Amino acid sequence: MPYHKILEGQINRLLPKEHLQDEVICNFLAAVSNCYATFEKDKKISEHAFDVSEKEYQTATQNLQQQNEIRKQSILKLKEAIKSLDPNASFISEKDDDLISTISYLEEQIRKAKELAIELLQAKEFAEKAMQAKSEFLSVMSHEIRTPLNAIIGTILLLQYQDPLPSQKEFLRVLEISSENLLSLVNDVLDFSKLEEGKITFAERDIELLYFLKNIKMANRIRAEEKGNNIKIMYDDDIPDFVRGDDVRLGQILNNLVSNALKFTQNGTITIQVSLKENNSDDVLIYFSVQDTGIGIPKEKQQLIFERFTQANANITRDFGGSGLGLTIIKRLLQLQHSDIHVDSEKDKGSNFFFSLRFKKSKSNTVREEKIQTFDKQDLKGISVLLVEDVVFNIMVADGMLQNWNAKVDIAENGSIAIDKMKQNKYDIVLMDIQMPVMDGYTSTVEIRKFDSTTPIIALTASISIDIQEKATQVGMNGFVTKPFNPNDLYSALYLNTIAKKNKS
Ligand code: ADP
Repeated sequence: MPYHKILEGQINRLLPKEHLQDEVICNFLAAVSNCYATFEKDKKISEHAFDVSEKEYQTATQNLQQQNEIRKQSILKLKEAIKSLDPNASFISEKDDDLISTISYLEEQIRKAKELAIELLQAKEFAEKAMQAKSEFLSVMSHEIRTPLNAIIGTILLLQYQDPLPSQKEFLRVLEISSENLLSLVNDVLDFSKLEEGKITFAERDIELLYFLKNIKMANRIRAEEKGNNIKIMYDDDIPDFVRGDDVRLGQILNNLVSNALKFTQNGTITIQVSLKENNSDDVLIYFSVQDTGIGIPKEKQQLIFERFTQANANITRDFGGSGLGLTIIKRLLQLQHSDIHVDSEKDKGSNFFFSLRFKKSKSNTVREEKIQTFDKQDLKGISVLLVEDVVFNIMVADGMLQNWNAKVDIAENGSIAIDKMKQNKYDIVLMDIQMPVMDGYTSTVEIRKFDSTTPIIALTASISIDIQEKATQVGMNGFVTKPFNPNDLYSALYLNTIAKKNKS
């Protein structure tokens, strides 16, 4: 067996050859050679171990340096961001690794932000409550004002029926116009508060457009004649006879525009133009314009008039009245239907207000048989009416009108008495108030419909709300008339549901 290289050299140099034959010496030399080899192996192992830990130490130090650099950069960026948000943040020291003061500053800011959020929430709730209180107040007050107004307007009508002297006729007309203006003001305020609350919804009903426009013309006929004005309808025959939309809201928009046109025009012409802009498979886009030949609106005022409570000229308001809410309401009603109102006008030449509105197509095609009724000779002779109403003034006004038309009137002060009377007598028609003590009009109608499905029941309502109109139909009523009564509306509801039906059958 070969010995370790160093031992080999020493044997060659120092041990005479003959000793290599001795077995004891050979064993001794083999043991020494082993020691050499073990020592060398241990030395290599410990050298390698030292190499490895040196490398690891260097890598760890490098990592630490890098992380330290990243931390410094982050703190710097954080400080820069804080300074740009809050230039007065005085806490910031020049030390670039000052993380603790930065964190406490941020904690302080988070605490303040939370406090602010709570304050904002409280302010929002407060504002909402104030808004709700305002609209409730407006709503209650408007209804409260409408009730006596109803009596005033009705009494004026009754006085007009009693052959007043020519001088008294003049005064009555002034009273009539003023109370109507007051009523439209109250209605505007009510509508405006509903629009502000976002409470308006749009119904979808069949509208026979030409008939509908003629009604608007009819309703404004007297006021037009008084100012020497003429109302013309220009109607595009391509428009389908029926469309589906909200007739009440469309009527409100057009009536308001026509009434403005009449207000600001003397001895002129008001043209309601309606034409077809788009005819699609499911819907149509219809263009409406109301043009007058009146005083016009100066260019610089033309956008202002759509703002609430704004009028083009304060002197004009004194002469013509008005709240400055009409056009604001129109604008919002149209915007809620994805449309808008526009105006073209020149001072002293006249104004043109126009908009386009989309309607669904209707399946209905039976054109109305009863053409526009003007009811010049209003007569309900031989017709018996059950008037269900609790407010004495309203009874007086409705009873006065009905007597004037020669109808026979019986009165029930609430819904429960109405049921008893309906069981005992036969009436041609029932006029039913909605809000009454003991039993309201809806409940009474439901009960009456259990034993009488044919006698027409017309709702009398102080509210123009669509919910009320829809509920009236649901419980089995045949129509509705809003208070204060427009005699033409009341008469036409009575006539169409009694005499016209009898004539047909
Ligand atoms: P108001 O109730 O005062 O009529 P509107 O919002 O309907 O309120 O109208 C605002 C103002 O716009 C009016 O006061 C009037 O100055 C002007 N205006 C509206 N329509 C016409 C019109 N057809 N001709 C001239 N001015 C008009």
